[in-house]
Amino acid sequence: MARGNPPEESYFFVAGTRPEAVKLAPVILALKAQRQATVLVATGQHRALFDDAIAEFDLAADIDLDIMRDGQTPAAVLGTLVPLLTELIVCHRPAAVVVQGDTVSAFAGALAASYAQRPLAHVEAGLRSGSRDPFPEEMHRRAIAQLADLHLAPTSAARDALLGEGVAPAAVLVTGNTGIDALYLVRDRLARDAVAGTQLARRFAGIDRSRPLIVATMHRRESHGAPPADMLAAMADLASVAEVVIPVHPNQGVAGPALAALGNVKGVHLLPPLDCPAFIWLLGGATLAITDSGGVQEEAPALGVPVLVMRCVTERGEDIATGNALLVGTDRVAVVAAAMQILGDATAFVLMAEPALPYGSGDAAAQIAGLLVSRFGVAASAVRSST
Ligand code: UDP
Repeated sequence: MARGNPPEESYFFVAGTRPEAVKLAPVILALKAQRQATVLVATGQHRALFDDAIAEFDLAADIDLDIMRDGQTPAAVLGTLVPLLTELIVCHRPAAVVVQGDTVSAFAGALAASYAQRPLAHVEAGLRSGSRDPFPEEMHRRAIAQLADLHLAPTSAARDALLGEGVAPAAVLVTGNTGIDALYLVRDRLARDAVAGTQLARRFAGIDRSRPLIVATMHRRESHGAPPADMLAAMADLASVAEVVIPVHPNQGVAGPALAALGNVKGVHLLPPLDCPAFIWLLGGATLAITDSGGVQEEAPALGVPVLVMRCVTERGEDIATGNALLVGTDRVAVVAAAMQILGDATAFVLMAEPALPYGSGDAAAQIAGLLVSRFGVAASAVRSST
């Protein structure tokens, strides 16, 4: 474990997965732009995906705990992380600890902040599916809400959920989702870089652009109990009318079944996980997205791409309300029928493809950085100790 000298005041980020990298990077960049010190602790939960995603924002972990071992349960990961993180937080005494979302890394960071008695800020707070699923994410996000001092809600629905659970109104701020900030950072960088665009077009030249393009992702733990045979079969069915591009998540239980079911299906392109720019470029050019990923569900409407959510519940009702997304479940017939309807009905398609920003307009990170400094920074703590 690498340790630097404790900064006098810093914002201490704990993260371990790709979506945490994507959604915390804009906040770290916004704090750095305000000349604030940040410490990024990578837990190692999804080692390669995290490292690649954070590198896209020219960031790297300051401390790498590298705790993952084959076959570890979330409970074992938590048991390893909490004492390590608590010790680090006690040693660094950061102005605040920041976690995002609902992973075991985020929950461990929240518990450690509480044991170390440092303030805790929760980015993307207040998402609720209203059921036990997704497990264990719903449990984590509810538990983190019990521990956080500052709840950064992406939408007013998320704020209302927190208020309904008794969180003090002054502790909840609606900021938009930092995932949209990240999306725009990547998209704008691509738009300025003609060479990168040409390289991407060449990289994906094997996709037949005369057909509709479906970009699909599937990886959720809730789907893993029964590897998503129905979802995979739906992708095979849809390849008869569209090119189906699937960047395959390396989670155990996804890659093997995907290859077995779709490896030889004409029109299906199984790819390794893509770097952020490549994924955003492909998604932006897609006719339709089909996903069980929360992040992709948020990104597609901002790019004007209709999205089918291949889950039974969602904690993101906003793009369903705007008509950009449909919650279709995981049944093969239902997924195929919904996709065929959108691809075959120009009116339905145009309505769903109307770009919408239910998750914010790309300024969430700047707001969050300002809030962190005003609530937990030196000046704020001086005011607190003098009152
Ligand atoms: N993503 C990516 N490469 C891929 C697939 C997704 O960079 O091959 C990005 C995507 O743009 C989104 C994030 O990963 O920002 C979503 O992560 P994931 O699906 O792992 O997690 P979830 O959103 O379900 O929490």
